[in-house]
This record gives sequence, C-alpha cells and structure tokens, in this order.
Amino acid sequence: MTTRWGDVFDRYAIKAVSDNDKIKRAYVPSQEQTEVLEAAGRTPADGGPAPQSAIRVLGDPARSQVDASYYRASGHPQRERRLGGKLISQWLEVDDELLMGVRNGQLYVARVQNPSTHQSIIDEVLLASGLALEDDPAADIALDPEDQAVLAAPCPPEALEQLRVKYQDASPRVKARLAMHIERGAVGAAVKRARGFHCQLCQALGLPSLGFFKRSGEPYVEAHHVMPVSALLPGSLGPRNVISVCAGHHRQIHYGNVTVAELPDGFVFTIDNTQVRVSRN
Ligand SMILES: [Zn+2]
Ligand SMILES: [Zn+2]
Repeated sequence: MTTRWGDVFDRYAIKAVSDNDKIKRAYVPSQEQTEVLEAAGRTPADGGPAPQSAIRVLGDPARSQVDASYYRASGHPQRERRLGGKLISQWLEVDDELLMGVRNGQLYVARVQNPSTHQSIIDEVLLASGLALEDDPAADIALDPEDQAVLAAPCPPEALEQLRVKYQDASPRVKARLAMHIERGAVGAAVKRARGFHCQLCQALGLPSLGFFKRSGEPYVEAHHVMPVSALLPGSLGPRNVISVCAGHHRQIHYGNVTVAELPDGFVFTIDNTQVRVSRN
C-alpha cells in the first residue's frame, strides 16, 4: 500500500540523499522541494554562510527538530539552492529518502525509507497541526485510567519516571494524550502556582502577564509541556519540562510559527522571528 502523503500535507516532495550531498555537506533539494520550502515561507540566503533555523522532524524518536541553513551556492554557475547545517552534517545519511512537507504553513521533514514508520509520521503531523485531543477518546482508552489518576494528584518524581518508561513505545497519539494530562494535572498546577499564575512568555516579552481572575480568585493561566513527548527522555514528564503560559501564547506555541530549543536551565522560543528565553521550573 502506498502512503497518501497528499492527505496530510498541503504540499510535499521526496528525494534521496546522495553520496555527493553528504560529502559536500549540502543537501540539494529537488525543484518540487524548493516549492515546498517556498510554501513554508523559506527563502534562500544569497551565498553562505547562511544562518540556521529549525525545521520540525517527524518520525524520529531521537529528535523533534533539526537546524538547517538554506542558501544559493555562490560558486555554482546556476547558483544552486542548497540546505546545509546540522540537517546534513548530523542527521541525514546517504540513501535516506527525505520527505519535505508543508501543512498550514509549517515545514516538516521526515526520513521515509522505512514504510513501518509512515503511520506514526502521519499521526505526528496531524497532532502537531492541531487535531483536537479533547475529541480523541480512543487515545484515552489506551492511557490506563489508573495512570490518569496518578497524574491528577501530586505524585513523586519516581511515579512520573515509571509512567515515562511504561509509555516509551506508545503511539504518538497516546503520548500526546499523556502530555495533555501532564499539562492539566498536578504537575501543571504546581508549575502555575510556582510562577504566581503569570505567563512566562509575556513576562519575558515585557507584556502584562496575568490573565483574568477566575471565580476561585486565581488568575487564569495554562500549563504547556515544552519538549514534545515523542522521545520521552528522562525527566520529560516532570515540572522542568513544563512552563506556565497565557491562553493566547499556548495556542500560538501549538498552532503558530514557533520553534523551541532546550537549554540546561531554560528554553529559547523563536516566535515568528523573535527569540524569547524562559527559565525552567
Ligand atoms: Zn503570554
Ligand atoms: Zn501545550
């Protein structure tokens, strides 16, 4: 059965990585792939060294994004378009089939030579692009009710680690559901309280950072699970991977043009072209 990538991407194209790409440390996108890049708002810099920016990676348990530069080679007669940076130096290997796709203006890359990964790639892109998890009861069935109860009440770090190990090989959909329970459960509540119910992004941007007051008298704020659950790395279910954000920023992180990089003591969000640094909890 061939995978219908056109059902999940507005536009996509696939091309293999050549020996030459790998040696030159420059992946040469096909004409169709340059159109995908353009549809995602990426334009080549004129010559190198070009700045690197993050591209979301699908279907790779080891990483959720990769940095790449995009430029026209100055020494090349046709000023060939190339993708450099970590994409080719640290991630792609010779003969990888590289899919580049765009959905809702968001650029994604995936290595698709192994058909057994295709379903999880499709699940991931649907989740990333806003499938409402609230409307996905099938995922809750796969998430043990006892585990949901664990997440609803304050629990020790060891209990979170046990859950992390238990769900390590779960589907992207179930992992996303797990993250939702972290955001809405006791871990999220503790982070919100510790942050005084302020939006950490608004604070970093110097904006008013307290929301409206709820009937309980507490300011309204939401919790966001920062690094995606796909890898389920140690500690990723704990409060250090959760920040408090206003409702607007929370939607923007999930649906907007936002990437995030992890630091030992915090995170750097790139929101459109603005970098915002927040500290860990
Ligand atoms: Zn905010
Ligand atoms: Zn979130």
